[in-house]
Amino acid sequence: MPNMSLQKHPMPEQQPEIRATNFQEVALGYTREIAMEEADRCLHCKNAPCVKGCPVNVPIPDFIAHIKKGEFQEAYETIRLQNGLPAICGRVCPQETQCESKCVRGIKGEPVGIGRLERFAADYAMTEGTVSAETAAPTGKKAAVVGSGPAGLTCAADLARAGWDVTVYEALHTPGGVLMYGIPEFRLPKALVQKEIDNIRKLGVKIVTNAVVGRAMTVEELLEEGNDAVFVGSGAGLPNFQKIPGESLCGVYSANEFLTRINLMRAYTFPEHDTPVKVGQRVAVIGGGNVAMDAARCARRLGADVSIVYRRSEAEMPARKEEVHHAKEEGIHFRMLTNPKAILGDENGFVRAMTCVEMELGEPDERGRRRPVPKPGSEFELPVETVVVAIGNSPNPLIKKTTPDLPTETWGGITTDEHGRTGKKHVYAGGDAVTGAATVILAMGAGKKAAQAILEDAAKEE
Ligand code: FAD
Ligand code: SF4
Repeated sequence: MPNMSLQKHPMPEQQPEIRATNFQEVALGYTREIAMEEADRCLHCKNAPCVKGCPVNVPIPDFIAHIKKGEFQEAYETIRLQNGLPAICGRVCPQETQCESKCVRGIKGEPVGIGRLERFAADYAMTEGTVSAETAAPTGKKAAVVGSGPAGLTCAADLARAGWDVTVYEALHTPGGVLMYGIPEFRLPKALVQKEIDNIRKLGVKIVTNAVVGRAMTVEELLEEGNDAVFVGSGAGLPNFQKIPGESLCGVYSANEFLTRINLMRAYTFPEHDTPVKVGQRVAVIGGGNVAMDAARCARRLGADVSIVYRRSEAEMPARKEEVHHAKEEGIHFRMLTNPKAILGDENGFVRAMTCVEMELGEPDERGRRRPVPKPGSEFELPVETVVVAIGNSPNPLIKKTTPDLPTETWGGITTDEHGRTGKKHVYAGGDAVTGAATVILAMGAGKKAAQAILEDAAKEE
């Protein structure tokens, strides 16, 4: 008889008042006993609806069955059949809208804690188990991958496993993409990301950092150098701004810069590491997505009084519910239905306040979300010294500009078919560079599909 508890086992975590003062991981992970108990909640449904909710089709009931029997290494290997970065996905995937949203245990009670179990199995393999680095015999084929985020790394790993010689070119000095520079340490420890990347290196994948494709070399040159395929996984790292007055004042950051300083450059350890970040006593973060939550929670950990300023209501916030919950627990204020109009500076050009207007919900827009409209006469000043703009990112235009025959969308994304084939021969793309800002698992899924297409196309050409 399975464990019929209606609740999933809570995740042990740091207390809010303690964690709001440090950058260590908030969620501490299941113990073996808790993992086995939670695994016992799975009914091993024949049709496994949870698998259909997973963008990379992890055999969920199979890996959970292994955990239930205490076969943790086997559980990990089962996940790795479909997912190359399980320790990362177990932490940051929006399971509540994917696998767990389809779990039958969720009909009456909470779904099985699939993400927490995935994290458990991955952490076990990384600390006590083994991670295989088996590859097929060398095929003599060569590929270049642009960008080392989850899309690029997944494509590189799959090609290397198939016996290809793969080189990843990364613009930054550390590989990992958003996993390293965007998502904060307290949600995704960087040592763990690097361990996952080391596992990919063990497959023979070479990673060249500080290599900006479009500057150091072009996509065309990578093809001319003898690469049989080029995969572009360059992400969407160009920050959007609201284009309101005052955005060039000192104390205004894009969330990208703010998070890169804090995560990649470890500004919270300054001067031990040499990149500072200036955070005032009062910080406003504009936006309602995961990026806004991450920026707000970082600013809070640096000692600020932080407000999220979002023009719609909480129901429309795109951030994961868990992140909103954690942010609230940590004392972050939520100013919903509030739209910034201008950022105001002092005589020295530093931010001193933000003018905002209150909003109310009007008629639904084309996506069915009620459109916020300004409430007449509701303008007010919010005193702040730092403003972080987290209203979305777009693909950087560099690859597009330097690869004139690469088809792109008007908004800047690279055009591909559903398998990642671009209109340019031997060039493939996937992840945020194609979809715009999305999720880690969708980027990985795109990297996987493109690797498959590369292998199929190469086989046809032989
Ligand atoms: P990226 O991760 O952006 O990687 C692209 C890489 O390409 C970067 O390293 C970049 O430096 C490199 N690059 C760019 N141009 C070039 C060039 N010309 N030459 C060489 N290299 C280049 N998703 C979730 O699922 N869950 C979350 O909780 C979550 N939280 C997020 C929090 C933040 C702060 C951010 C910014 C995003 C978050 N996301 C989350 C979204 C997720 O991280 C992205 O969708 C995912 O990383 C996209 O992967 P990618 O490989 O396409 O691109
Ligand atoms: Fe287990 Fe839920 Fe998947 Fe059924 S739907 S197999 S209960 S995880």
